[in-house]
Amino acid sequence: MSARVLDGTATAAQIRSELSSRAAEFTRRAGRQPGLAIVLVGDKPDSHIYVNSKLKSAGDEGMKATLSHLPASVSLDEILSLVDRLNADAETDGILVQAPLPDSLGAGAMQAVFDAIDPSKDVDGVTPANVGRLVQNRADLIACTPAGIMEILQRSNIDIAGKHAVVIGRSDIVGKPVAMLLLHRHATVTVCHSRTKDLPAIAATGDILVAALGRPGFVRRSFVRPGATVIDVGINLVVDAAVASAIFHEGHPRRGLFERKGSVLVGDVHPEVADVAGALTPVPGGVGPLTIAMLMANTIKAAELRAGF
Ligand code: NAP
Repeated sequence: MSARVLDGTATAAQIRSELSSRAAEFTRRAGRQPGLAIVLVGDKPDSHIYVNSKLKSAGDEGMKATLSHLPASVSLDEILSLVDRLNADAETDGILVQAPLPDSLGAGAMQAVFDAIDPSKDVDGVTPANVGRLVQNRADLIACTPAGIMEILQRSNIDIAGKHAVVIGRSDIVGKPVAMLLLHRHATVTVCHSRTKDLPAIAATGDILVAALGRPGFVRRSFVRPGATVIDVGINLVVDAAVASAIFHEGHPRRGLFERKGSVLVGDVHPEVADVAGALTPVPGGVGPLTIAMLMANTIKAAELRAGF
């Protein structure tokens, strides 16, 4: 058996074409484009890549995206003042502060910045108000990756109600919110983490298995119930040849890619899982493109709500 591929790139393209017309309609009625403000602190190369694709996507969808790029030496107070200014700016509908912040700002800095964002502009779904509303099943703005996972499940006609969903990972940004969303859609949800005992056996009871732990190729065939839907959230850049060859067999196209480039992107799910799963999101081209599409969806939703449309 070979799993049905749940194509995140195609699903994201469909969502984005729907959003383009909503953005155009907003612009016509409001006399301005929906506005997304992105704050980037420091020079982490992968953060630059993520921010650039968000800026490009916003432009493609007919939104006005602006970037405030601050040096890694900036103080927390300076970041908070910028967030205050963006909160007060009438043409900014969405604010996204790219995680992570530089370590030099201290362990609580990211949360302090999230706490300062106006919840009506919180297009990343990270403020305490929006997390609370998510728990109460009345959220307007939901964290983008979990929202994207729900979109691909829904648009791929995967049944959720009454199913057992197992989520591996309990982060604030992926594991916990996706568990809550699955619960709201009437799944029976089990959340696993690094202290979970007998993880493979628990995972193998899932009709839906969400892997969000950040360990390349961690989820093996034995973790997966035959026919299960497997959502691979992991984005891991593998640069170690031994790791790459343990994941991709000789002749696998992605092993060839590693041999040419010296690195390869790998999910949390081992490729052998395709032989047992019923449906599977690939990496790349699965959850990643949906995350950006949902950021755009949140920006338009925030703009419409703020304008009273
Ligand atoms: P995170 O904050 O590091 O959380 C990882 C979670 O996995 C933690 O709850 C941790 O458990 C659990 N975990 C780690 N090792 C484990 C193990 N051996 N067995 C069981 N559980 C284990 O990571 P994250 O931000 O949620 O991201 C997870 C992955 O998704 C990463 O690869 C990240 O790059 C990717 N990601 C992708 C997107 C996207 O757009 N596709 C967006 C966000 C994140 P403890 O809580 O016990 O430590």
